[in-house]
Amino acid sequence: MSASPGNKSFARNASSGYSGIEEHSGPLHSFLEHSTLLIFPVVFVLNLHWAGSRLYELELLWLVALAVPLGIIGGDFISGIVHWAADTYGSEDMRVIGPSLVKPFRLHHVYPRDICTHGLVETTGNVCILAVPALSLCLYLMWLMPDSLLLAFSVISFALMAAATVATNQFHKWAHQESPSAFARWLQRKRLVLEPLHHKLHHTQPFDVNYCITNGWLNPLLNKLKFFRRLEMALGFLGIKTDSQRRRISG
Ligand SMILES: [Zn+2]
Ligand SMILES: [Zn+2]
Repeated sequence: MSASPGNKSFARNASSGYSGIEEHSGPLHSFLEHSTLLIFPVVFVLNLHWAGSRLYELELLWLVALAVPLGIIGGDFISGIVHWAADTYGSEDMRVIGPSLVKPFRLHHVYPRDICTHGLVETTGNVCILAVPALSLCLYLMWLMPDSLLLAFSVISFALMAAATVATNQFHKWAHQESPSAFARWLQRKRLVLEPLHHKLHHTQPFDVNYCITNGWLNPLLNKLKFFRRLEMALGFLGIKTDSQRRRISG
């Protein structure tokens, strides 16, 4: 990634959450973002079609009603885990995941409105780069085991989870926009996507609650269970230190 000075209107708005810096992907990264964003809908629909046809043949199409909430909640959970990991572990200068994952999440705490300046490719491309190979593998597995009911149900749930994960940064972007579209506001009011006031709690010191950013359905439960603090303790026992613990030791 390379950075260049942004336009003056962003710079003027620095105090309201914009950095004034525009990030540009390198040519290979940009190619992967664009191509996988185009391929994602194709592999997503193929997965739903193949797995759905299998459930229909078995007269078990009603299982889709179970797969939908499972996929959406799974996507919300993945968003929470990835967000928490990027906020808590590693550093911005790590290879590959430093600039592509750790840095954007940490900069987002300093300049939360930068996400509003990102286009569709920048918002969803990185997740598509991961989702397309995963969904292609699902197609291959269904080709190998076309009669498996468990596989068909798992694939539908996984494909929906992948779609929720791809959409997550778009929902996150809507939560930071000053004037989201009427459709986005309706989805936010119905709590089908991340609601701005709910997400604002994550942007309040010490930034350690409400990590899930697809729709945030899991946040109340995970906050109550102190899920991420307990996970940090468990990883601490294995010798894996958070970024702030490492800084304290080395400082
Ligand atoms: Zn965060
Ligand atoms: Zn945010």
